[in-house]
Amino acid sequence: MRDAETLQVGATRELWRQVTRPGPTPSRRHPNARLLSALTGRPPGHLAGALLELRDPSPVWEAFRHNPQIGCRRCDARHPGGPVFRIFPHHRYVCTRHRYWIGSSDINRPGPFLDDFLEIVKAQRRHLRLLRRHG
Ligand SMILES: [Zn+2]
Repeated sequence: MRDAETLQVGATRELWRQVTRPGPTPSRRHPNARLLSALTGRPPGHLAGALLELRDPSPVWEAFRHNPQIGCRRCDARHPGGPVFRIFPHHRYVCTRHRYWIGSSDINRPGPFLDDFLEIVKAQRRHLRLLRRHG
């Protein structure tokens, strides 16, 4: 099982490397619309409808939120391209997997670890479960 996971992670990273280009730093990579189009068979314009990063001109990210939002440091650490710019829904304040406070967008530093406040993690889980059930 572990070997299959390792192979899958390796294949995912290789695929990511093939459809992205480095920038602005060597550790970060950006998706390339032409390469993704060749891989998926979809026109770049259609892909840009789903992936805002592919739009030309680039979207004004600040228009989506007035403050950049910091994500879960452990989720970002696993991402091969480095920290991820995310636009969380207004109801997502906790990474329930790693128990880190990630919201709201008005904090400008990584959030605290919530191991001493498990009722907050439970409340986020309960809230997400309610959203799945009732929208
Ligand atoms: Zn996380």
